[in-house]
Amino acid sequence: METLKIFLAGRWCEGRGEEMSSVFPADGTVNARLRAANVDDVNDAVAAAEKAWRAPTWRGLVPHQRAEILHRVSDLITEQVESLAQLQTRDNGKPLAETRGLVMSAAATARYFAAACEVLEGELPPQRNPEVMTLSQYQPLGVIAAITPWNSPIASEMQKVAPALAAGNAVVLKPAEATPLMALKLAELFEQAGLPAGLLSVLPGKGSVIGEALARHPLVKKISFTGGTSTGRHLAHVAAEKLIPTSLELGGKSPTIVLEDADLEQAARGICYGIFSSAGQACIAGSRLFVHRSLYQPLLVRLCELTAGLRIGNPLQPGIHLGPLINDKHRQSVADYVALAQQEGGRILIGGEVPADPRLAAGSYYLPTIIEGLCNRARTCQEEIFGPVLVAMPFDDEEQLIAQANDSVYGLAAGIWTRDFPRAMALAGLLEVGTLWINTYKTFSISTPFGGYKQSGLGREKGLHGIQAYMQQKSLYLSLNNQPNRWSD
Ligand code: ADP
Repeated sequence: METLKIFLAGRWCEGRGEEMSSVFPADGTVNARLRAANVDDVNDAVAAAEKAWRAPTWRGLVPHQRAEILHRVSDLITEQVESLAQLQTRDNGKPLAETRGLVMSAAATARYFAAACEVLEGELPPQRNPEVMTLSQYQPLGVIAAITPWNSPIASEMQKVAPALAAGNAVVLKPAEATPLMALKLAELFEQAGLPAGLLSVLPGKGSVIGEALARHPLVKKISFTGGTSTGRHLAHVAAEKLIPTSLELGGKSPTIVLEDADLEQAARGICYGIFSSAGQACIAGSRLFVHRSLYQPLLVRLCELTAGLRIGNPLQPGIHLGPLINDKHRQSVADYVALAQQEGGRILIGGEVPADPRLAAGSYYLPTIIEGLCNRARTCQEEIFGPVLVAMPFDDEEQLIAQANDSVYGLAAGIWTRDFPRAMALAGLLEVGTLWINTYKTFSISTPFGGYKQSGLGREKGLHGIQAYMQQKSLYLSLNNQPNRWSD
C-alpha cells in the first residue's frame, strides 16, 4: 500500500498532523495512507504562497505566459485520463464512466482558463474630463484558500485552482478528508507542468482544523469553498471578520418539473439520470420531482421501470450506473432520511434499503429510491439528502407549482420537461435558481457561469466570471495636461 506525502510549497513531505487514509468505498480496502497537514504546515504553505505570488518570476509574467502552464497541465491530464479516472474511482467510489468525464472536464477547465488569460481585458471608461483619462485594470488578490468536497475531486479542484492561478494568485488547497488522492495527484501534475514552487500547496487534513486555520490565516485574501451550506455559512462569517471575498458553492434540493405536454420517455430518462447518477451525491441532483397530475402515474411507472434496471456494483467495472456511497456513515444518514420520510407519511415506490446482493455487502451501497405521498413542506422534501433518493409530488396548476418549487432555502438548479418552449421560458423566469435546464439535466459547459441563489451559494464559478472572481479591480487616472495644479495660487 502506498504512503503519500503532502505537497507543501514545492516539497513532498510528511504532514505533521494525524494519520489519515483514502478508502475504496466499494469494499473498504485502504488505497493509501498519509500523515495529514497540521496548523504549522498551513502557516508554512501560506507564507510560501505569499512570497511566491509576489515574486517577479510569477508577478512579472504576462497573462499568456501563465497560460502556458495551464495548457501543459491540460495536456498531462489528457494523456492519462484512464489512470486518473481509476484513481478517482478508488478515492470516492464513482463509476468509471463518471470519473472519466470529471477528468476530461478538469483538462477542459485548465484549457478554458488558459484561453481566458489571452482574452480578459481591462476597460477604458469614457472620458468625463478632456484632461484626464481613466483605465480600469484587474489584478490578483494574493493567496487563495481553496476548500473542496469529496464528490467531484479534480473537476471541482481545477475549477478553483485554474482560474486562481490564471489570474496571478497563489493557491493553498485543502481537499476533503475522504479524497486526498486526486488533489495530491493534481499537485504532481502542476509540478510537472513547471509551476514555480509555492504557488500551489495541497494540504489534506480535517476541515475543522486545517480548513479552519487556512480560512482564518491573515494572509489569505479569498476563500473559495464548495461543500455543505452550514460550513459555507460558517466560512462566510470567518470571511466577514477579515473583510475578504468568498465564493461559496453550497447545497441544493433542486426541483425537476414535468409539464403535461412533456415527452414522457425523454423526461423519465432525464430525471433518472438527474437524481441517480453519482448515486445522488451531487449538489445539483434533481431530488424533488413535480409532475402534472395528468402524467403523474405513467411517468412514475416508467421511472420505476428505469430505476429497477439500473446496475449497481463495483464502480471499476464497465457498465455500472451506481457505485457505493462515500462511506457507511453517509449511507446511514441517507437511510435515516428514508426512515424519516416514512414517518412523515411517505410511501416507498422502489428501493429504500441496502442491496441484498452478498457481493455488495462490503461496500457502502444503497438502492436508488423513489418516495411519494409527501408534501413539499416535509423535512425529506426540504433537506438535502445527498444520496439516491427522489421525492415525487403531483401538481395541478402552475401557480401552485411555482410556489412549491420555490419553497426551499436552496436555489441551485431546476429542470423543466415540456414541448412548449415559450412556456418553459416563462417558468424559467420565475424559478429562483442559478442554473435551469430545459429538456436536459446535469449538462455543463465551462464557458457558462455556475452558482446558487439563496442558501445555495454566493458568487459564480466558470465562464469569465470564474476568473474575475479571483481578481480585484483597480482604477488609474492619467493626466493629459502637463500644467501644474493651480489650486494653491
Ligand atoms: P460535505 O458535506 O460535502 O462533506 P463539508 O462542508 O463538511 O461538506 O466539507 C467540504 C469541505 O469543507 C471539506 O474539505 C471539509 O474538510 C471542509 N471543512 C469542513 N469544516 C470546515 C471548517 N470549519 N473550516 C474550513 N473547512 C471546513
